[in-house]
Amino acid sequence: SAEPGGSYRVVLLGASGVGKTAFANIFAGAADSMDSDDCELCGEEVCEKEIEVDGEPATLTLLDTWDAETDNKCAQEPCMQTGDAYLLLYSVTDRASFLRASELRISLRCVRPAQHTPIILVGNKCDLVRRREVSVSEGRACAAVFDCKFIETSAAMQHNVWEAFHGMVRQLRLRRESK
Ligand code: GDP
Repeated sequence: SAEPGGSYRVVLLGASGVGKTAFANIFAGAADSMDSDDCELCGEEVCEKEIEVDGEPATLTLLDTWDAETDNKCAQEPCMQTGDAYLLLYSVTDRASFLRASELRISLRCVRPAQHTPIILVGNKCDLVRRREVSVSEGRACAAVFDCKFIETSAAMQHNVWEAFHGMVRQLRLRRESK
């Protein structure tokens, strides 16, 4: 969508247990909202909210509808096609989730081949220093290969989570301007 004011659908993807629900809960909380009302449209899986990024409002609809356990491509594809942008999460404490993120990145490219859809690779749980299985440089290298942005976050510490959402909006705006 490219209407003025910017309204975007952002989909959370990633293996089970990486922190998608934690991300959605932070987004749904009023912490960075322009008004103090709680997010009205918040069901379990979808939340729409206006946020301010670089002094301009943007409306984000966050979808946490990904069924991480299914291998059913028919169930996955609608989810993959519905977004204007994707947050591709893994846990830095779980190498399998990192590999899963790579697979999801490849699937995304298949489902949306011709489109330059903004994707941010998100290494969550960076607070769990002693349980880390995936290094920062591995995450960065993976993002470079997959031609997407990279950020490490801690939903538990509320570290860099809003930076990820704001980065998403900046990418979406750049894409809109270059059209
Ligand atoms: P989902 O399956 O991807 O939705 O993952 P959840 O959001 O349900 O998170 C799975 C578990 O990891 C929960 O117990 C969360 O409290 C925990 N968790 C999520 N993010 C973080 C984080 O950044 N740091 C730590 N230490 N725990 C986290």
